[in-house]
Amino acid sequence: MKLLILGGTSEAAGLARALAEYPDVQVINSLAGRTATAPVLPGTVRMGGFGGAEGLARYLAETGINRVIDATHPFAARISAHAAEACAGLGLPRLRLERPQWPRQAGDHWVEVADMATAAARVAGLGRRAFLTVGIGEVAAFAAVTDVHFLVRLIAEQALPLCDYEVVTGKGPFSAEAERNLMRAHAIQTVVTKASGGAATYGKIAAARELGLPVLMVQRPTKPEGICVADVASAVAWAISPA
Ligand code: NAP
Repeated sequence: MKLLILGGTSEAAGLARALAEYPDVQVINSLAGRTATAPVLPGTVRMGGFGGAEGLARYLAETGINRVIDATHPFAARISAHAAEACAGLGLPRLRLERPQWPRQAGDHWVEVADMATAAARVAGLGRRAFLTVGIGEVAAFAAVTDVHFLVRLIAEQALPLCDYEVVTGKGPFSAEAERNLMRAHAIQTVVTKASGGAATYGKIAAARELGLPVLMVQRPTKPEGICVADVASAVAWAISPA
């Protein structure tokens, strides 16, 4: 059985490692190619886009893929839509593996907004010094905000289309203690984040709670309908189940 894992997440990597125990399942890991080097994963690794839903359908047919697991990030909306369309067209079974949302706890002060544009419109109302941790692809949404100083965390230093900002570089996981120290050192008044879920970036949520800071939480985009599981073990069970 040939399984395509659409990846780019720790869950996708964990799934590939778990499926290495099953020699009957031939795994192809697909990555968008946003990083310079491919991670070391069991199975085959391919990098780069397919060329939309049509390109993905062509790839699935030509490669003889039997099943697809979409284990991409909760905010990677386009590839999930393409996977749903391509699999529906070919009649291929598709599973979504998506990490759970962060649970809201006592002491959390979350302001939930639907998208980045709304977050940009609301941020000044929550504080003049914001910790912006939404990923490089989303920073431009805050370009017109003039009255907020942004502390932006990026993997590598680069110029940004923001009025008033400084960059701090770092790659997760980030502990709550380190996040608290960073926020204190920069006199942060509010945190802006995607509702990504997962342990690696939860530190900023715990730190904001400890410091009594509001969190502007951008909600996940809607993903296509279909079977969805929240953990690697359930995805393995689906992958190895008889056709
Ligand atoms: P996206 O907007 O949904 O996808 C944009 C395009 O990138 C897709 O149309 C597709 O190109 C290509 N692509 C995306 N994921 C791919 C994959 N796994 N294999 C092959 N091609 C892929 O995705 P994104 O938000 O830019 O995220 C890109 C990748 O980074 C995803 O794999 C995701 O899991 C990972 N990631 C995203 C975030 C986030 O916050 N968005 C965070 C961490 C990791 P074609 O149309 O040419 O096929």
